[in-house]
Amino acid sequence: MIHISALQSELATHLAAYQILADEQSKQFYGRDWIKDFPPSPCLVVLPESVEQVQFVVTTCGKHGVAIVPSGGRTGLSGGATAAHGEVILSLERMRAVLEVNPIDRTIRCQAGAPLERIQLEATQHDLYFPVDFSSRGSAQIGGNIATNAGGIRVIRYGNMREWVLGLKVVTGRGEILELNGSLWKNNTGYDLRSLFIGSEGTLGIIVEATLKLTTPPKDTTRILCGLSSNDAILPLLTYCRGRLRDLSAFEFIDSTAFGEVIKHRQLRNPLSDTYPAYVLVECELNAPSAMEQVTEAFSEAYEKGLILDVVVSESSAQSQELMNIRDLISETLSMHYTLHKNDISVPVPAIPAFLLELHESITTAYAGFKVVVFGHVGDGNLHVNVLKRTEITDEAFWKSCHDSDRTIFTTVQKFRGSISAEHGVGMLKRDFIHFSRTPEELEMMRGIKAVFDPMNIMNPGKVLPAATRNSCQS
Ligand SMILES: Cc1cc2nc3c(=O)[nH]c(=O)nc-3n(C[C@H](O)[C@H](O)[C@H](O)COP(=O)(O)OP(=O)(O)OC[C@H]3O[C@@H](n4cnc5c(N)ncnc54)[C@H](O)[C@@H]3O)c2cc1C
Repeated sequence: MIHISALQSELATHLAAYQILADEQSKQFYGRDWIKDFPPSPCLVVLPESVEQVQFVVTTCGKHGVAIVPSGGRTGLSGGATAAHGEVILSLERMRAVLEVNPIDRTIRCQAGAPLERIQLEATQHDLYFPVDFSSRGSAQIGGNIATNAGGIRVIRYGNMREWVLGLKVVTGRGEILELNGSLWKNNTGYDLRSLFIGSEGTLGIIVEATLKLTTPPKDTTRILCGLSSNDAILPLLTYCRGRLRDLSAFEFIDSTAFGEVIKHRQLRNPLSDTYPAYVLVECELNAPSAMEQVTEAFSEAYEKGLILDVVVSESSAQSQELMNIRDLISETLSMHYTLHKNDISVPVPAIPAFLLELHESITTAYAGFKVVVFGHVGDGNLHVNVLKRTEITDEAFWKSCHDSDRTIFTTVQKFRGSISAEHGVGMLKRDFIHFSRTPEELEMMRGIKAVFDPMNIMNPGKVLPAATRNSCQS
């Protein structure tokens, strides 16, 4: 059994009083991410201000045998930043500095606690562009984005966070500081340890600093909303867009329920002339002088060919934003008006229509109290599957059935050789389902890798990989 007072006293030898929080309000505030399934119960919250302080916290917790939960902006959707078992929360919120922007090799170096939006703005000020983007950008931190290998709507053009990480500075679970790759664009000297930290969800160590790549900003963008006859029309349109649009940057699916709910509850104007069984929101960069004419021409031909039933092409940034709002507001609108259970999965792109058909059949047959709503980054095979509670069943019955329906969904995902977590990570939420996407051999290797970086199993135990229960603090 560990005593919190001994740990706290030792931490206080290197951290100021305002950097160690033990009050209940702070513990509740820092104790979880957006997932409310696990009640927070940390023993302390620490707010280091330097790499050396992070190292000190890790070695001290290691000495006392207390687990650490690395904490970024806590916008995660898998319970990864949740401290439910007496852990110390190590928040990076006091390490938010942008350290350097280098226009020669187009890189930005920052502390891990810098918010994503800050990096985007800093890049813009240097006429450069950081393309990873999603709606939690104001709170989500670069360290958290790297630890979850975040995606977003522009993955089809720019890839995931992984593509943009040049170098990392980390403090491992052993308390060592590692500089992984610095700012090198080429470095073929053995295993890429940096890559192991991308998507590791805080289970190997703490990311304290990152060097990120930047690129040329698009000259302009336009967005296009299409009404489709059915889900079967998604892939022919994707193939067509890939062939006709030089700089396709997003291809987002919205099913008819998601579209109807967002229009109704947000009192938005339907930009199309009618409602349709399915919708696709396309985003396209306009880099060449005649790009806008080419886009307009491409979509009028798509209409003539019968690939789409209706279309609106934005002609101003206000119209473009109006179209984007429909997609951006879905998640929040559904959460505001329904009791719902979210899932974030991916399947190979060509399998999407067949997967959607089977998903709807399996859920509707087995769970009468559910309504399935799907939307997402369909261009890269990523679907957000939301199960909404119908009024005729109780909350209790709904949550119980969600657990069973997850198995149904994951079995279907597995059948289509997909992933049970496309971009939100595994955390605690999907830890016990990871075998649907990873083999026992792969899991054994992951355990081996964790043991190398974190032999005492103090880094976010119980996340991603099922792990033995750790010691927790007692006051
Ligand atoms: C409205 C909304 C929209 C979203 N849209 C998207 C989307 O389109 N695409 C997408 O990918 N995600 C999306 N997310 C999920 C979330 O924003 C991302 O997963 C994001 O990358 C999490 O960053 P964070 O700083 O909030 O991390 P946290 O939630 O704080 O932590 C996430 C995980 O990373 C670990 N971690 C955090 N910081 C560090 C660090 N410095 N070192 C080591 N480990 C660390 C934590 O322990 C935890 O396991 C969305 C979330 C919301 C609320």
